[in-house]
Amino acid sequence: MPKYIFCTGGVVSSVGKGVTAAAIGRILKARGLKVVIQKLDPYLNVDPGTMSPYQHGEVFVTADGAETDLDLGHYERFIDENLDRTCNVTSGQIYAEVISKERRGDYLGGTIQVIPHITNEIKRRIALVGQNTDPDVIIVEVGGTVGDIEGQPFLEAIRQLRADVGRDQTLYIHVTFLPYIGATRELKTKPTQHSVRELRSLGIQPQVILARTDYPVTDDLVRKIALFCDVEERAVIPLETTDNIYAVPLLLEDAGLGDYIVEQLHLNAGPPDLDDWRDLVARMRHVEQPLRIAIVGKYVELRDAYMSVKEALNHAAVAHNRRLEVEWIHASDLEKGKGTALLERVDGIVVPGGFGYRGIEGKIDAAEYARVHKTPYLGLCLGMQIMCIEFARNVLGLDDANSTEFDGTTEHPVIDLMPDQHSVANLGGTMRLGLYPCVLQPGSIAAAAYGTDQVNERHRHRFEFNNQYRDAFIAGGARFSGLSPDGRLVEIMEVVDHPFMVGSQFHPEFASRPNRPHPLFCAFVQAAIAHQEARRVAAPAAQEEKSA
Ligand code: GLN
Repeated sequence: MPKYIFCTGGVVSSVGKGVTAAAIGRILKARGLKVVIQKLDPYLNVDPGTMSPYQHGEVFVTADGAETDLDLGHYERFIDENLDRTCNVTSGQIYAEVISKERRGDYLGGTIQVIPHITNEIKRRIALVGQNTDPDVIIVEVGGTVGDIEGQPFLEAIRQLRADVGRDQTLYIHVTFLPYIGATRELKTKPTQHSVRELRSLGIQPQVILARTDYPVTDDLVRKIALFCDVEERAVIPLETTDNIYAVPLLLEDAGLGDYIVEQLHLNAGPPDLDDWRDLVARMRHVEQPLRIAIVGKYVELRDAYMSVKEALNHAAVAHNRRLEVEWIHASDLEKGKGTALLERVDGIVVPGGFGYRGIEGKIDAAEYARVHKTPYLGLCLGMQIMCIEFARNVLGLDDANSTEFDGTTEHPVIDLMPDQHSVANLGGTMRLGLYPCVLQPGSIAAAAYGTDQVNERHRHRFEFNNQYRDAFIAGGARFSGLSPDGRLVEIMEVVDHPFMVGSQFHPEFASRPNRPHPLFCAFVQAAIAHQEARRVAAPAAQEEKSA
């Protein structure tokens, strides 16, 4: 029987509850325990796949092809386990399931109600987690904040679970926020007290309070929270904002949370071994030499939209002793002729995934800049398609080359809808999703990067390279270094006469871990370092020439 840790949030959202849940997973894993993490999202969408990044940030894709909340990315990166589609449950899924059962007649004669039908379905989904992996601990994060109307059935379900599985099997952790009043220079605990009261009114008494804060918390304040919220003093843990999310497990461990959880849940755990993690965080803090990478996207003002890309770059940069500096570049700025100066400053350019026409021409400009100036370029999904369009237009001279996603009437549809997508009517969950194999061409940049001849990578796309153009591309100096095993689908495209211009139809960023950076990102970072160094050598020479 697994033990359950339920994480709820109070006061405000966006205080890093996902990172906190992930960090708890890491400190338990460090004790030799097997951990799985599940996110319960109260919104009514079935999954975030059809939501705007403005609403939701990145859509994280699991190996089994579920489109999930970006917190699953944190979970995977922190606990270094692949999660699956049972690990993200939404109200939309719950209601859809209950209503379809009702239509089938499964509840014949009954009135369908939130309690027990919806709550039972939530509990069934919680029980599905980790069925094949036999975890010691399942951490369940309830999205949103206590008091949200949509969240109530989830809180009721986790309340009931305590009685269902046993008091000793469950632990409730409440993550709150301590606001700071500038005028009086003090942190306030009242909102935390209120959110605990709200939680209690739903029948849940938290055993641990993690108080997020931007300022140091005094012992007095800890005592006050403990007293008013009826939580042991040692279980009130202030969590001050840190410069590095990967430091959160260390903060929690050093505050004694790991031992407290082991004690409360009577876990059979070894001593914590966080040495590697400590080294990693120390290295992240100490790398000095910057590596400047441009991410050219359409949601760059909203960093969450490219969360995994940024993290994957960070992991690879640190592994090569560089401090990642991201230049966020609006694709639409490039279209207006702005931002090119930024491209001149960077050591590498990434064009990440995306959908829809806005910003496309700017991304094509970025790819052209990278090709012409031999700046290392990594194209991810849409970024690979962009690279193909640019190559077709500017190298092969196919002026109006495009993807049929953006121009249905182009004479040269170098990127086109995949044949099995033609009959797809629904937009939700119908892309080519999840892990698919890719065979690498010996001697290519990709094969050298991976050091193997076949890989499995995560996908999320409807469009693909149009094979009618393969020969022309190869004749023009492109290499299709990754193909599906049947040779039909282009998975990786490279520009031959270039130090590193590589695009993948898949999303390698989802598989990068802080302790295991992804090979393609590593190869890209190496190329960017080489580019940086070459420019450093060239710069004084250019200076001399000028003054001569
Ligand atoms: N819009 C493109 C497609 O559907 C790329 C998708 C992506 O970047 N994830 O193929």
